[in-house]
Amino acid sequence: MVTKYIIVVGGVISGVGKGVATASIARMMQERGFEVSVIKIDPYINCDAGTLRPTEHGEVWVTDDGGEIDQDLGNYERFLGKSFSKNNNITTGQIYRSLIEKERKGDFLGETVQFIPHVPNEIKRRIKKVSDGNDIVLIEIGGTVGDYENVPFLFAMKSLENEIGSDNICYLLVTYLPIPSHIEEMKSKPTQIAVKLLRENGIQPDFILCRGKKRLDEIRKKKLELYANIKSENIISMPDVMGIGTSNTLYIIPLDLEKEGLGDKILNRLKLEERKKPDWRDWENAVQKILVPEKVIRVAMVGKYLDIGDYQLTDSYISVNEALKHAAAKNNCKVEIEWIDSKEFENDLMGVEKLKWFNGLIVPGGFGSSGVEGKIKAIQFARENNIPYLGLCFGLQLAVVEFARNKCGLLDAHTTEINCSTLNPVIDILPEQKNINEKGGTMRLGAYMAMVKDGTRVYDLYGGNEVLESGEQAHKPLEVYERHRHRYEVNPDYHKCLVDNGMILSGLSSDGRLVEFIELPNHKFFIATQAHPEFKSSLLKPAPLFDGFVRACLE
Ligand code: GLN
Repeated sequence: MVTKYIIVVGGVISGVGKGVATASIARMMQERGFEVSVIKIDPYINCDAGTLRPTEHGEVWVTDDGGEIDQDLGNYERFLGKSFSKNNNITTGQIYRSLIEKERKGDFLGETVQFIPHVPNEIKRRIKKVSDGNDIVLIEIGGTVGDYENVPFLFAMKSLENEIGSDNICYLLVTYLPIPSHIEEMKSKPTQIAVKLLRENGIQPDFILCRGKKRLDEIRKKKLELYANIKSENIISMPDVMGIGTSNTLYIIPLDLEKEGLGDKILNRLKLEERKKPDWRDWENAVQKILVPEKVIRVAMVGKYLDIGDYQLTDSYISVNEALKHAAAKNNCKVEIEWIDSKEFENDLMGVEKLKWFNGLIVPGGFGSSGVEGKIKAIQFARENNIPYLGLCFGLQLAVVEFARNKCGLLDAHTTEINCSTLNPVIDILPEQKNINEKGGTMRLGAYMAMVKDGTRVYDLYGGNEVLESGEQAHKPLEVYERHRHRYEVNPDYHKCLVDNGMILSGLSSDGRLVEFIELPNHKFFIATQAHPEFKSSLLKPAPLFDGFVRACLE
């Protein structure tokens, strides 16, 4: 079968859920039995998202093959329960970088390298590479129509359409219909203008997805039909999700769009027959558990860079938040997360006592010295007061520092990321990181294997104790792959000291050099990992450590 394309573009304003809409439609296609892939186009000149400020762009998403990408890729993976490659992200920087490299090598000898055809050709080449083996590829173009920087990509889509024929490609515009408070009326004008701007690029949308506070009424649908020349049945309402009480979830969106018949309408437009009837039972079940949870647990997430101006940017830890939601849905509870800036514990000596009122503590990934001593105090409190603790990457490193200081008696123990002259560098730079000067894409990135020891809690959580078909248990080291993004590691010179004082190194790299998982015995739950298991969590398959953590919090 030839690959079919669904192009998603944004109109009016950004940040209205284009990524979630794309992920939802992808899931609707997957439910119909198709092999689906999703590409995110980011029109910025950065080669990837690795060097972007998290307070502006949200947390960076890491793929198995070590790509550092915008969170939208996270949404796709979470909704589809499938891993994508760094090739599923295309940026302007990547396009120009490869064109310039090819030009210098002499690949275009004699030619003038120009915007047309070289830029659209490079964009199409990358799209086709991802399309291999997929029935349907969704392409989400970042930004909004009218932005200078997405013109090359719209041009490339038109050029792709010319090549493959219009039955094999459709366009969906996600817009926003504001309701100005002084008139309390939903306005369709900005959407009309967005359609006009898209047409200036030769593209007539096949579907308009209308975001807004409320559902689009028939009058406005008809108006848009008239002004945008698009059948009202293809104008789809996507109002803010309502939820029940204080519970709400984006995972309801594919179910809502299904009610609007969008999945079948897209198949019709692309002249496709569904391969199987969508079966949403497990999905509905999980959504139901999020909306009507039986219990509530409170988790303190102690991190930094939470405040920007008057706003708390909880997007900095979006994958951790989502992984908690997945685990909560599985365990029929709701997780209320309180984001606490760790600096708070540094200024107020008794402040850390407030952690008593939480069912669990998470210290997520982080960089730099800001708030580090506060995080260490929080970890100490959780360890000493039997409060479930989950440490992620920096959260493992600081748990080791805390343990070294307070249990191994190495009072000045530290990570050399913060104090390079400590006499006890329990966390030190990875040897292969020592001579790296370039910042972009040079961390230890992507999926690495850990050998998890039989008899540990981590082993149990990852299913090591599951009974084999033969009726026996495996009792052999379990290979676990999780994604990484770091430059520092537990210093091998201190492994013995940590173990002698009671820490269990539950998982190591296959050469035994890198600590991947730690845990403490005689504690409700004290587990940390050098990896980021949140990157492999999806609604129907929560990450094992998050699942275990939530269960421990429920006890
Ligand atoms: N800053 C630490 C390192 O580079 C931890 C990174 C992280 O938490 N992702 O090793």
